[in-house]
Amino acid sequence: MTSRTTTPAPSAHPSPSAGGAPAFAGLAALATGTGPALQVTAPADGRPLGAVRQASGAEIDVAVARARAAQKAWARTPAKARAAVVRRFASLVLDRRDEILDVIEAETGKARLAALEEAMDASRTAAYYAHTAPGLLRPRRRGGAFPVLTQTTERRHPKGVVGVITPWNYPFTLPASDSVPALLAGNAVVIKPDEKTPFSALLALSLLREAGLPEGVAQVVVGARDEAGPALVEAADYIMFTGSSATGRKVAARCGERLIGFSAELGGKNPLIVLADADVPAAAAGAARACFANAGQLCIGPERIYVHEAVRARFTEAFLGEVGRMRVAGGAGWDAEMGSLISDAQLAKVRAHVEDAVAQGARILAGGGPRPELGPYFFAPTVLADVPETAALCREETFGPVVAIYPVASEEEAIARANNSELGLNASLWTRAARGAELGARLEAGTVNVNEGYAASWGSLSAPMGGWKASGVGRRHGAEGLLKYTEAQTVSVQRLLRFAPLPGMANERYADLLTGAVRVLNRFR
Ligand code: NAD
Repeated sequence: MTSRTTTPAPSAHPSPSAGGAPAFAGLAALATGTGPALQVTAPADGRPLGAVRQASGAEIDVAVARARAAQKAWARTPAKARAAVVRRFASLVLDRRDEILDVIEAETGKARLAALEEAMDASRTAAYYAHTAPGLLRPRRRGGAFPVLTQTTERRHPKGVVGVITPWNYPFTLPASDSVPALLAGNAVVIKPDEKTPFSALLALSLLREAGLPEGVAQVVVGARDEAGPALVEAADYIMFTGSSATGRKVAARCGERLIGFSAELGGKNPLIVLADADVPAAAAGAARACFANAGQLCIGPERIYVHEAVRARFTEAFLGEVGRMRVAGGAGWDAEMGSLISDAQLAKVRAHVEDAVAQGARILAGGGPRPELGPYFFAPTVLADVPETAALCREETFGPVVAIYPVASEEEAIARANNSELGLNASLWTRAARGAELGARLEAGTVNVNEGYAASWGSLSAPMGGWKASGVGRRHGAEGLLKYTEAQTVSVQRLLRFAPLPGMANERYADLLTGAVRVLNRFR
């Protein structure tokens, strides 16, 4: 049931059960489901990692019912006690870093440095929300309809069971970091990871349980994409979806019909602008790191570079130098900067985008094809120029290690072309100008990084992160990233005066009195 069909090969990787890491078989036992086994293979070399039992639609219903039952006691647990569990999880992720990296690396084929970003992100997000959640969830006094006479409190209740649906590209941090605020808000979660990468999500679950999360409050269900995802959307009380814009539309439509809330973090075709006054070597190094992070399988990674004519030659030379020096390799270890793609399907898509662009006149400045000598799905870091507007690579998300350089004659042209996209997830702008932040705010994207590719905004956990246009609905991070998992409730206690004429008072007199009172109130708020 996986799209990878390569023959298993003996591995040079250390076993993920080495060094105290739980065996894949141990993790598989945590999955809810008794259906046919799903074989998971390592993309870097095709070796089998283990099998996980799939959950049918009916078993997902049962998992949601179990979560709903467990959620009641969890919601009654004081917010500070819930936060203590999540704080322990944040520490455990650091303590067990190497084990986590082994599992992520084996399951995705990504470079260890890219896997490190996941572990650090999961730990930071957990610690951030453990600190802030009790305050965000506290009942708050609000101004009443009439001062003193109306006492109003805003309360936050959990939604119930949150379905967390995640893709394969960040298989540890997305299930963990999107579940943590939901759990802190008093919800139970049922996580459905991508079927290619269930073990990272199962490892996150095992660490959450080790940190003290009661059984049943978080579960992982693994299953066929056409059955498990829709079944969870059908049963949960709120959906946190991360994935492609195409699937996001389907999920949104069904959530709309069910009238349940959802948050959708979707695809990107992210621009990176290099202005004439940019620090060119820094821009070249930063762009190379961002474009090829996780072999380009990063929703917020740049795929379009708009460089000012004045620095185009210098930037291109420096950028190609960085790309040429990039270490692409498989195998556990810290040396590689870029690893494998996830699957044959991903390789085919990346290849098709490049071949189509070249057939339409694009020039290959670096890379351009697969690297089968490294592993079945490796693709060289690729830089293209002269990509025409009609090429799919110009407008659609490629999600691979491919970036196109487009010259621009002015700042205005760079901004206009960057904004000319139906997607608006992340943008990057390189300039020495003090007004960089102001210029960046003209870009139509949920996050804008000035003199960085993506990490500065993503890592700013207290600020919202998410997509404009077809890149998403809703936000993760910041207060919004937690409060979306709650139902707001306004409780108002009315004293003394009622919203009606006093006994014996003529209606007209009441109307005049009320008008006077509203006139006074309007002066203040
Ligand atoms: P995908 O949409 O194919 O799959 C994502 C998840 O949805 C998987 O778990 C899949 O099994 C499930 N799914 C599939 N069909 C479903 C359905 N009908 N109902 C419910 N669930 C269903 O995405 P992908 O190709 O695996 O992941 C890559 C995409 O994710 C890229 O477009 C990338 O940009 C995006 N992404 C976005 C962010 C973000 O924060 N915005 C982060 C990571 C990835």
